[in-house]
Amino acid sequence: MSHPLLDLAPLSADRFASIEARVARLLDTAQDVVITQGEALLPLEGAIRGTAGPGTVALNVITGPYGQTFGDWLRDCGATVHDLAVPFHTAVTADRIAEALAEHPETDFVSLVHAEAATGNTNPVAEIGEVVKAHGALFYLDAVASVGAEPVLPDAWGVDLCVIGAQKAMGGPAGVSAVSVSERAWARMAANPRAPRRSYLSLLDWKERWIDGGRKALLHAPAQLEMLALEACVERIEAEGLETVMARHASAAAATRAGVLALGGGLEPYVHRAREAAPVATTLRTPAGVDAAELVARALRADPALPLAAGGGALAREMIRVNHYGPLATREAVRGSLAALGAALAEQGRPADPDAASRAVEETWPA
Ligand SMILES: *Cc1c(COP(=O)(O)O)cnc(C)c1O
Repeated sequence: MSHPLLDLAPLSADRFASIEARVARLLDTAQDVVITQGEALLPLEGAIRGTAGPGTVALNVITGPYGQTFGDWLRDCGATVHDLAVPFHTAVTADRIAEALAEHPETDFVSLVHAEAATGNTNPVAEIGEVVKAHGALFYLDAVASVGAEPVLPDAWGVDLCVIGAQKAMGGPAGVSAVSVSERAWARMAANPRAPRRSYLSLLDWKERWIDGGRKALLHAPAQLEMLALEACVERIEAEGLETVMARHASAAAATRAGVLALGGGLEPYVHRAREAAPVATTLRTPAGVDAAELVARALRADPALPLAAGGGALAREMIRVNHYGPLATREAVRGSLAALGAALAEQGRPADPDAASRAVEETWPA
């Protein structure tokens, strides 16, 4: 019996290369784009292990849980790591980065997360890129949560390693990801005796055996379903228009923010300044005495399809994530999320005003 997900024709090297080219166009980059056959943690780790070693001095910016992970990998590679952590309700500034680089002038690697879906903040990468470029350090960026929701421009911003995943604002699959690699970053890897080689974590393998060979022969059987899903999701973005997709995310974030302020009940935006709030997802702070995980569970009982989650780890007590991304960057998802949270708050003796929230959504994001 044939099945739509099975019995597919093999994915050719040409098709694979054309999907890479489309992803490169999405990032407006002339750098090499490597599609990696796994969730975004694969290129995030591969890029660090490829470029960092005992001689590396890294400035690791922590604006959420992923920054923590990158610092651990860098230390594991033997790098000297200077962490720059900012409270999760804010973003880092280019000035803070400049100060840190002045304090540690030997820094030759900067790692940064663009937007954090887990904390709801976004960092000014264009400005930070100027500072990093002036210093001359290699610039590593996690753009998994920003791509599709706001501009991600590795060439214009001087990003040497820009990692993306399709599962957030791109509305695509989670099992495949990509990284754009500058000439400088390739040179750093080639000179790094510790860079993974003949390994699933190796980006160099892809350069030497795929890119340098003219993209004729794949290293192993491609993750076919994931590649087709990636192609479909890029096609869908191209059809809607990247600008329109990004505008939809910005509107969803602005409407959620305005809506929650009108809702009341003690709920407020987690990220204080609107310009530091990520378009991909909006985080909310629950009032003292209201457990975020419990409030989310109540709201989801009303509608399990709503894009609501509690924060991870210790944040589960105080943070709600409204994951209004991909196909859920809609008025309906925003309005529904706020209405369900309002009802859940009322059940817990915290009167809220879902009608006012709905009006605020309508005013902020007129149909
Ligand atoms: C979502 C996300 C990733 C990918 O991680 P998952 O655990 O698969 O969701 C990586 N980096 C950032 C900043 C993200 O928001």
